[in-house]
Amino acid sequence: MNYPSKKMNKIGIDLGGTKIEGVLLDDNFNIIKRIRVLTPNHDYNSILNSVKDLIFKLKIGLDSPVTIGMGIPGTFSSTTGIVNHSNTPCLIGTSLQKNLENLIGQKILMENDSNCFALAESKLGIAKNYDVVFGIILGTGVGSGLVIGGNVIHGRNNFTGEWGHHSIIFDGKLCYCGRKGCLDQYISGPSLERHWTELTGKKESVSEIIYNNSEKEISEWKYDFLNFFAIGVSNIINILDPDVIVLGGGLSNISFLYDEGIEFIKKESSNHQNTPILKNELGDSAGVFGACLL
Ligand SMILES: [Zn+2]
Repeated sequence: MNYPSKKMNKIGIDLGGTKIEGVLLDDNFNIIKRIRVLTPNHDYNSILNSVKDLIFKLKIGLDSPVTIGMGIPGTFSSTTGIVNHSNTPCLIGTSLQKNLENLIGQKILMENDSNCFALAESKLGIAKNYDVVFGIILGTGVGSGLVIGGNVIHGRNNFTGEWGHHSIIFDGKLCYCGRKGCLDQYISGPSLERHWTELTGKKESVSEIIYNNSEKEISEWKYDFLNFFAIGVSNIINILDPDVIVLGGGLSNISFLYDEGIEFIKKESSNHQNTPILKNELGDSAGVFGACLL
């Protein structure tokens, strides 16, 4: 099957800790093809090959040039390209971008996945009418991206928006990044589930905890979640005072973040603030759309 020629098609890859998603878009951001596969666990070469196969499948039948952008669950050096930080540990220390480019024989634009999310919501989603956009991903990990005037802000160390790794508790839980008390250790999906196990001895997913559970510990668990969430968000408002904060990732579907969560933030904030805290508009597609916008 051949697709009609376009000025420039785009492939966007969202490499996540649990799944890899790829889309082929036309010039007007219409989806031509979408593929999702599970991320191979703990094996760098398998991840490389999965992404390569996915790109190959997206290109089948294509008779025009294509750009490729990819969001990854981590940060990398702006000078060497080496991944220096990731919640998918086998990526750390690798030259992911260079290795993939060699494998597929084409240039790839690579960006942190939270930056892709913030960029997509800023240009195509709920934050279209805001200038300073802080996008938060709450899921397997806690990440964020900052977009100002439609541009991703990277910072001197390519580290802007590493919100999940600001410490909210002195001498708190040890994080995989080497610091203690990182927000990620308190409000990422696995951290919330671990806290539930600490309270009840039960192993349940966040959605099971919220929607099925009648245990008395639920109020303590929820209070801690909202409290840590509010501390993290208030710190951002105090430092950056963005025009809008957009939530993404699996946990952004939790409705109480948008009413009780906002009340907690108001109590936590040292100044009167009315920052909109909005749910994303693009859902699961934000990552791949953001990758296409690179
Ligand atoms: Zn950390």
